[in-house]
Amino acid sequence: MDVGPLTSVEQPALPAVVAALDELEADARFESELPRIAPAAVAVARDARLLGREDLACRADLVSADIRRRAGHLADAGRTAREMLQWAEQNDARMVLARAHHLMAAVFNELGDLAQALEHAVHSVDLLDESTPAPVQIDHRKRMADCLGLSRDQGAQELYLEVLALAEQAHDVHRAATILNNSAYCASLAGQHDEALTAIGRLRELSDAHDLPLDLATLDTVGRVLLGLGRWDDAEQALRPGLEPEVLDASVTGDGGADFLLTLAEVQRVRGQHAEAGAALDECIRRCERHGLTSIRTRARRERAALLAAAGDHRGAYEEHVRYAAEALAQQSEQREARARTLQAMYETTEARRQSRRYRELALRDALTGLYNRRHVDERLPALLLRREVDGDPVTVALLDLDHFKQVNDTCSHEVGDAVLQQVARILQAAADAAPTGSFAARMGGEEFLLVLAGLDRDAAADCLEGVRRSVAEHPWVALTQGLPVTVSIGVAADGGAPGAAEVLARADVNLYQAKRTGRDRVVGPGVVGPAQVGTGPAR
Ligand code: GH3
Ligand code: MG
Ligand code: MG
Repeated sequence: MDVGPLTSVEQPALPAVVAALDELEADARFESELPRIAPAAVAVARDARLLGREDLACRADLVSADIRRRAGHLADAGRTAREMLQWAEQNDARMVLARAHHLMAAVFNELGDLAQALEHAVHSVDLLDESTPAPVQIDHRKRMADCLGLSRDQGAQELYLEVLALAEQAHDVHRAATILNNSAYCASLAGQHDEALTAIGRLRELSDAHDLPLDLATLDTVGRVLLGLGRWDDAEQALRPGLEPEVLDASVTGDGGADFLLTLAEVQRVRGQHAEAGAALDECIRRCERHGLTSIRTRARRERAALLAAAGDHRGAYEEHVRYAAEALAQQSEQREARARTLQAMYETTEARRQSRRYRELALRDALTGLYNRRHVDERLPALLLRREVDGDPVTVALLDLDHFKQVNDTCSHEVGDAVLQQVARILQAAADAAPTGSFAARMGGEEFLLVLAGLDRDAAADCLEGVRRSVAEHPWVALTQGLPVTVSIGVAADGGAPGAAEVLARADVNLYQAKRTGRDRVVGPGVVGPAQVGTGPAR
């Protein structure tokens, strides 16, 4: 009788998944939306895969990768973007390709490689068509303008105007404000002061009309532009609202505040307000040190030197300048190295990672028995013991040494000896497999093994080890060893205190020696200290 499926898994509906994805791609720009978006992107990717729509799933994964990028995981985000790029090329998935290029542009931008960033940004725009939702159209074009603008290319301004028109058509005030801010910043960077002023004027109108909250980045841009124009009093006026504590301390990361204070100090210096400039600079440096902002800290040193010089302290200015130059140099090489590391991590291919995982795994295995080797023990055991301290999960460490093994080799052959070692390894592996996760068996060398049992209390561990001893002793060796018995002595480390791996192994070794000394084929350790077990083999 066919009763049909017992449970019904609800299928997500395709239109709902598409709508959710569009929304994610539109909103992921906004900091305030991130707590909602991060889990939503994971859910959309899962639903899309349930529907067999890998393309939509990739786009959701790209949203997640972009969130990781903004949290500072640049290489990780770059690697995802590259993998998506490859997948999209092979599968002719145009929108995935556009989104992956868009993310690559951001990654290269952060890496300071503006040429590469621009190339990706151009592709990310070329691949869009009329069906692309407005927010995505705007974001891709804006990033292209940013790449041009940061390279001080004058063509950026024209592009910003185009994107601005799109944002205005879409009544997207927040995007419009960001576009104007970036446009002003880049114009002033390129020495296009009139364009910068125009952008600032429009930004002010927009802020007033829509009651946008003041943010430090915008004030900072305005201040910088006016400073560049030599309009020092206006610059000071423009920056003043940022000194309100609710504005100055609103920045999440703290670098907004530090950047702003540095601009303010510069404006105050050129206006001759040396004491105020000094105070702003002090506060800027405090924030740099609190938030670990090395690059702004270095620029603050240069400003300090300028301020000392302006106040006539040329010796102080010189010394500060020397410190600035040294720090700037150190930072440059640090940044270069960080960039190289990120790029390497990003371009390490999936295949190479898989291979290196395989080689690594091989390097941690013993060739004869396939058990883990000593290297793995050295890596794994300290971590496991540490975890026991944290979680209170018991860990039992047992050293095992075959008894009179030399006789097997001598009486039979080295090959038979090897076969015995392999069989003992199988018994140990089975015991580790039956024990809770985290347990493992290893060959320490020669005929000496290690069994680590995680999460078993003292009695359960003792039972397990006694079981191992018996399995070895009772294995039908006869066929293999021409009647020679094979047994094992086991020394167990006392569980207690907070010892390191070396100390635990030493304790186990003492008990192993005790097991050998008191007749072999037995387990010696806490809770299992042997009254001598009845040996199964003849005494030798
Ligand atoms: P005890 O009970 O005191 O441990 O005696 P034992 O004979 O087991 O100890 P001993 O340390 O004297 O001898 C260990 C032997 O193990 C010596 C060596 O030939 C053998 N052996 C070590 N590694 C291998 C291996 O990989 N294959 C084989 N077949 N034998 C090995
Ligand atoms: Mg030995
Ligand atoms: Mg031995």
